[in-house]
Amino acid sequence: MFYLKWKKCINYFKKKIPQSEFNMWIRPLQPKIKKKNFFLYTPNNFFLLWIKEKYLKKIKILVKKYFNIKSSHIKLIINKKIIQISKNYNIKKNENNQENVLKKYKFKNFIIGKSNKLAYQSAYHIAQNPGNFYNPFFLYGKTGLGKTHLLYAIKNSLEKKKYQKIIYIKSEHFVQKMVKSLKNNSIEKFKKYYRSANILIIEDIQFFSYKNRTQEEFFYTIYDLIEKNKQIIITSNCYPTKMKGINERLQSRLDSGLSVCINTPTKNTRIKILIKKSHEKNIFLPYRIIYFIANNFKSNVRELESILNKIQANLLFNKHKNITINLIKKILKDFLQVKKKKITIKKIQKIVSKHYNIKLSELLSIKKNKSIILPRQIAMTLSKNLTKHSLQEIGNFFNKKTHTTVLYACKKIKKLYNKNLIIQKNYNILLKKLSV
Ligand code: ADP
Ligand code: MG
Repeated sequence: MFYLKWKKCINYFKKKIPQSEFNMWIRPLQPKIKKKNFFLYTPNNFFLLWIKEKYLKKIKILVKKYFNIKSSHIKLIINKKIIQISKNYNIKKNENNQENVLKKYKFKNFIIGKSNKLAYQSAYHIAQNPGNFYNPFFLYGKTGLGKTHLLYAIKNSLEKKKYQKIIYIKSEHFVQKMVKSLKNNSIEKFKKYYRSANILIIEDIQFFSYKNRTQEEFFYTIYDLIEKNKQIIITSNCYPTKMKGINERLQSRLDSGLSVCINTPTKNTRIKILIKKSHEKNIFLPYRIIYFIANNFKSNVRELESILNKIQANLLFNKHKNITINLIKKILKDFLQVKKKKITIKKIQKIVSKHYNIKLSELLSIKKNKSIILPRQIAMTLSKNLTKHSLQEIGNFFNKKTHTTVLYACKKIKKLYNKNLIIQKNYNILLKKLSV
């Protein structure tokens, strides 16, 4: 009965505020009645002040209504034990399926700056009138700059208008599905499906690199769709004709509509993004902190988001009176360190070839001498262990090796590392050299 009443109280907020805000602030509250008092436990002081400022007035009215308790008997109290509950909750929240996140990508929550204005405007234009202007619409740029956000903004806005048959697929899945249908003798069905789209959205097309059969099929699919004025929307990490391993005919087809770049955000845009996103998360950072983050993290928006998440979690679970630069530096220690030691595959290749006294061109060649194979396999393994690249991407850096070759190299080096002391020693020296 008690909890049922409490549920009724909080249901009010459930309807009134965004779910993320509800989960963050209302759900962790724990009520208890002792004698005549109604206590609400909160995890820390910061949390308590926040509740007091934003929700307490309404909570008092609701508690009076459902529990018949006078507002002077309603008290907020800190109880550290409940931290665990909200922490666990956050983990669950992170596991939430990605679809929900993607639904939130809209034009209205895309922050516009010099770096993405043209991309935004063209995407918006297409969402108003698909198939009639820029076809294909080719959006390219480095990771974390908002390509998927804009694609989903188009998709979500068209779906809201009940637009039918929007097919969205990641290139990787397109390849997998095609291979499967070739195996199952159902390639005709596959072709028909993609050619029936009114809008075909395909993400990260660089994945088609060196996959000739897929490229051919895709070429005819988009040819067919463009003929029928069906909109094609594509993203990639670089300009169509700069893509490695994509045949020329497809490249020029991809570039025959409108190709727009999203650049890394300028400082002003980074500041704008940080202010807007921190407010969305209910954290209010002094301007000099925003400025500090904008000055230190320049590469992409996804990184700015992770930084704000980290700060939010810290402020929520620790008592801080003042948000100082030093505090932020402490919170962001990991981010600042990773930044210092950014390791790339090219750097690994350079250091490994120097270490083994072989030419970089030899390391990347197809030569099969033992003195070259071993360093090459070590370089592949280091790339797998120290960067976020996939096996296939690593293979591409090594003169178009397949992902199985890279996988084989990693397994082999792991085995050797455990039984061959010289290899172990060299591997560790290389690790040290790379982390300088
Ligand atoms: P990409 O597809 O280019 O790798 P995403 O679209 O996945 O990048 O963007 C990464 C994150 O940054 C997403 O959460 C997205 O909402 C956010 N983001 C990127 N650009 C902007 C922007 N201009 N305004 C608001 N959020 C953005
Ligand atoms: Mg993306």
